[in-house]
Amino acid sequence: MPRSPRPHLPLRPLWLCRSCGTPWPCPDARLTLVGEYAADPVGLSVYLCGVLYEATADLHRLHPDQRPDPAGLFDRFLGWARRRTTP
Ligand SMILES: [Zn+2]
Repeated sequence: MPRSPRPHLPLRPLWLCRSCGTPWPCPDARLTLVGEYAADPVGLSVYLCGVLYEATADLHRLHPDQRPDPAGLFDRFLGWARRRTTP
């Protein structure tokens, strides 16, 4: 029996994908989220706002001397969804 693929979920507090090791949300995670929230793009934005809040706190705590760029964090965790759902 083949093993089921590992879900592309975040490894906290690093915020790397547990499956592919890239910064989360990785492309596969983004596809999954868009599918899960296909009928509720506002809900996806609300969810991602919460993720952005938690990730910002974790990443600032992990890297107090090299704090992540706020605009970069916004694009990584939330901006991509706005671009995907805007016609
Ligand atoms: Zn991944």
